[in-house]
Amino acid sequence: STFDGDESGDLKPRQTPGVLYSKAIPTPVKQPTLLAWSEDLAKELGIQKPTNQKEVDILGGNHVTASMHPYAACYAGHQFGHWAGQLGDGRAITLGEWETAAGTTWEFQLKGAGPTPYSRRADGRAVLRSSVREYLMSEAMHYLSIPTTRALSLVATGDPVLRDMFYNGNAAFEPGAIVMRVAPSLLRFGNFEMPAARKETENLRKLVNWTIDRYYPHIQGEGEERVLAWFKEVVERTANLMVEWLRVGFVHGVMNTDNMSILGLTIDYGPYSFLDDYDPNFTPNTTDLPGRRYAFGKQASIAYWNLGCLASAVASLLPDTKALVETLEAYSDVFASKYLTMMGNKLGLDQVQAADTELIEQFEKVLSTIKPDMTIFYQLLIDFPLTIENEQDVWSHFQDSFYKDTESEEREAFYSLIKAYVARINKNTCSREESKKRMRASNPRFILRNYLLSQAIEELEKGENKLFIQLQEAIKEPYSSKFDEFFAKRPEWATKKAGCSMLSCSS
Ligand code: AMP
Ligand code: MG
Ligand code: MG
Repeated sequence: STFDGDESGDLKPRQTPGVLYSKAIPTPVKQPTLLAWSEDLAKELGIQKPTNQKEVDILGGNHVTASMHPYAACYAGHQFGHWAGQLGDGRAITLGEWETAAGTTWEFQLKGAGPTPYSRRADGRAVLRSSVREYLMSEAMHYLSIPTTRALSLVATGDPVLRDMFYNGNAAFEPGAIVMRVAPSLLRFGNFEMPAARKETENLRKLVNWTIDRYYPHIQGEGEERVLAWFKEVVERTANLMVEWLRVGFVHGVMNTDNMSILGLTIDYGPYSFLDDYDPNFTPNTTDLPGRRYAFGKQASIAYWNLGCLASAVASLLPDTKALVETLEAYSDVFASKYLTMMGNKLGLDQVQAADTELIEQFEKVLSTIKPDMTIFYQLLIDFPLTIENEQDVWSHFQDSFYKDTESEEREAFYSLIKAYVARINKNTCSREESKKRMRASNPRFILRNYLLSQAIEELEKGENKLFIQLQEAIKEPYSSKFDEFFAKRPEWATKKAGCSMLSCSS
């Protein structure tokens, strides 16, 4: 790359004005051991599974080859709505870029590979439980067809890592691990906010131009026009990502601007969760209480707020902000249109007409009060026999998705909703089979629930990988019924157990 960098290789925590990244060599670990390997991704990349220790050493940060130029990116961010200043890759180190035979390029980054100039007061490491979560979930999102960073490998380091266990307040040693994260680019909104805040306009301009050349090569034009066309596309990709999260019930949990990908990918798998019971107020992040800024139902508006931060950052490249603000404000229409199309598919409508908006709003409202299991509810909706008319039979059909007792008005509202839905489905111009096909493609049947991850991690910590391997297979076919042993509500015991529902920010 041609842009500025700090080449000293000094790993001491520091402010790095004037640069967009710093040289950072991974710190070797005791004993890198390969725990998991993503075969499909490896094939796509044209990389063979490691066959000897030297190759595993690369995945653990113990071996840096001559063609690698490891660095940590300098970025800033707004965390929980507040400007946080310089953050940067505090425990992620990019080894370099890999070009596939097809000509696509991928950034390879070790997460948990030791300190960088951006580690601040932390250790640069990641524990097994958080690495397993990133590894499995980023791949799960890929198989759900949701834009995401990928994970090629999971390596145990053999070194203990000291962490404050949020659930009992005690510090404890845990096994360390490293994920090889892979994406076309891991650039975040925060990478643009940093030079903008430092008034390093030339660095900002270089970064924007480089990003467009590299990742948005189809964008034409010059100067202002080019920056605006690019920003418009970032707005669209971000809106699309929010709609996709809503489709499957994904809650990111830490939508700080440093966790917003400039390519519209899901990035940084921390205290994320799928919804079990349909609660738009649910946040999986213990640090996000009591504000619930990053709750499921707020994600679309937070994304808009974050895009506002990105807009402020690139504003210095434009003579005035009028067109930029218009492009930003187009977000709500772009989002609404994508959202309605998505909901139409989720519900099996042939097309979304004006009158359908109300039905979609009703679904949202009724589900938020009854709070059924989101995934199970939609699966049962696919198989709903349109001939059922009796209120009790409707209720029984959805019984397996309910977590709590309901009031009679809630049941009535639910019954009316299903009646309105059946009437609407009967107006479809496409066949019932076609409508169901659409629903099956939009509604996952297998989701990687937090309690399953938690169980798999507990087993792994004891040296047992049975559930982990099962989950690694199940994530590959989220729309099939092949893994129906997992097609069940979150069990009662998992509701309160630490780590099964809510988690803390970084581990
Ligand atoms: P996150 O909340 O995961 O987005 O992390 C926010 C910032 O903290 C990023 O700059 C991370 O690189 C940094 N960070 C998180 N955990 C660690 C760690 N264990 N060591 C160093 N930096 C960290
Ligand atoms: Mg982060
Ligand atoms: Mg994180």
